[in-house]
Amino acid sequence: MGSTGLVKYLTESRIITTLGAALLLEGAFYLIHSFWKKYYSSEKEKYRLLFFPDSKPTCKASYKERYGCTNSSCRYEHDGTAFKELMQILYSARKTVDLCIFCITSPEMADAVIHLHNHGVIVRVISDDGQVDSVGSQIGRFRAEGMYRSKSF
Ligand SMILES: [Zn+2]
Repeated sequence: MGSTGLVKYLTESRIITTLGAALLLEGAFYLIHSFWKKYYSSEKEKYRLLFFPDSKPTCKASYKERYGCTNSSCRYEHDGTAFKELMQILYSARKTVDLCIFCITSPEMADAVIHLHNHGVIVRVISDDGQVDSVGSQIGRFRAEGMYRSKSF
């Protein structure tokens, strides 16, 4: 190897070393970012604003079934609805849920609350006393599941 060949070799090896270092740094950044995202970012997101009603009803299977909706002729909405996002947030709870709603009439939301309660998540539902026995109220289902009424204001 002559001096020109040696310079070329050193230059190529520097480029390869630099590329290797860049890939290593990117890999390290990816790992740190993944770690941060998994353990810290969810703590930072405390508020999300959702607007209702959605333009079309949401398909229950789209948020409840593991592989989503498999009905090819399903006429309900599968993505991008506020209700789906709300249900995904509810079903992802692992410790506590505080749900403050004037009158809970959605059977799907009640299903989620009961599911969480039965899986050890502490669920607190705050609703209007006067709406408890109104048509479509789901509070009776909570009572039937053993969720008790703690206080009225
Ligand atoms: Zn569907």
